[in-house]
Amino acid sequence: MESRILLIYTGGTIGMKQDPETLLLKPFNFRQITQEVPELRKFGFLIDSYSFNPVIDSSDVKPAFWVRLAELIEFSYDSYDGFVVLHGTDTMAYSASALSFMLENLEKPVIFTGSQLPIGMLRTDGKENLISAIELAASVDADGHPYVPEVCVYFESQLYRGNRTVKYNAENFRAFRSANFPVLADVGIHVKYDMEYVRHPKIWGRKLKVHKKLDTNVAVLKIFPGITPQHVQAVLSIPGLKAVILETYGSGNSMADKWFLDALHDFTVNGGIVVNVTQCQAGSVDMAAYANGAVLKDAGVISGYDITTESALAKMFYLLGRYRSPDKVKEVFGRNLRGEISKN
Ligand code: ASP
Repeated sequence: MESRILLIYTGGTIGMKQDPETLLLKPFNFRQITQEVPELRKFGFLIDSYSFNPVIDSSDVKPAFWVRLAELIEFSYDSYDGFVVLHGTDTMAYSASALSFMLENLEKPVIFTGSQLPIGMLRTDGKENLISAIELAASVDADGHPYVPEVCVYFESQLYRGNRTVKYNAENFRAFRSANFPVLADVGIHVKYDMEYVRHPKIWGRKLKVHKKLDTNVAVLKIFPGITPQHVQAVLSIPGLKAVILETYGSGNSMADKWFLDALHDFTVNGGIVVNVTQCQAGSVDMAAYANGAVLKDAGVISGYDITTESALAKMFYLLGRYRSPDKVKEVFGRNLRGEISKN
């Protein structure tokens, strides 16, 4: 049977074209995508497209956007074999992380892609990204199962697990990185899947569960030498705050000042959750490695292991939306739910 792919256009540079008069970048009518990328007609399968209205610069993405996207995938889930989401690169790692948690029991590829140069420009990276993402979303193994039934990001010939990515380069075509997890596929003359790392359902045929309740009472607090008690207090006293993603140094260390540890302790004993995530680009938190990590554990801080800040934030929104009890949220946060941490 021929594959059916739904191409979802949300906005971003990929869908833009230079206005010949003003020279400004403007979104083009997505219904004309085959004019811009005639190669799409050469695929031997069905590609339907859906455009958000209005399309947005991904800097404008909010959790309500993730809910719309998840609902669209839920609504069309049975009609398609895979989904390609065209999205701006700025917040793509956040959106891919969020969707990975919101779509439980996912058995079909949901591949985010975009571009650094608009598709209407001669040197665009968008065409290759789009065409390969569609091909990856439609690829099945000998049993007819998709190769990558996960939320992924495809960019510049690499397929990544979405919730492991960060945008790390604002200019280069290779804009994304997944420092703590290998790429799922390398696309050259051949597509080389690294099947050892792709997540597959233990049992196929489970019903997709879409989690739409997200609780955004979360703050990100990045420590730095010289951070003041006022700064930390201002964050911890945000009304309604339930959780903090604490960006620490190295393997999860912070200054050991009493005022700082007391502030964290007060927050956690009163039901607040603090997750320790490293500011480093790669590697994991290990609060047992140094005395300056152990003090955080004593203050009630839990480990984020090797999760990215983007993914920690999305995981927290999802878990706070799902569970009332802070202890339950803490316990589930420590589990590997969608391959977002290197832990069984
Ligand atoms: N600002 C754009 C966006 O994220 C950049 C891009 O698409 O690359 O929507």
